[in-house]
Amino acid sequence: MITGRPPGQQDFLTEGKVVRRFRRPDVAGTLACPHCGKTFHEHGWIDALEDGHVVCPGDWIIGIDNGEYLPAKPALFYALLDELSEGGG
Ligand SMILES: [Zn+2]
Repeated sequence: MITGRPPGQQDFLTEGKVVRRFRRPDVAGTLACPHCGKTFHEHGWIDALEDGHVVCPGDWIIGIDNGEYLPAKPALFYALLDELSEGGG
């Protein structure tokens, strides 16, 4: 199931129920992300059973059937949407 961002949540201006601010003592917030080049202070974080997932600005959030949430890069997200819409008729 793809849910996208929770209703009312835009970017990372506030902490949401799913995506929290990226704040880790072992990673400097001023460090640039290897994926998007923005600092980690501009990132979000999703808790998972083991560790968690970094959320880059612009990522979509996918809710999966086991109740977990995953970040998805826009290209992947839209590819999944296309796949679902083609498969669903
Ligand atoms: Zn990033």
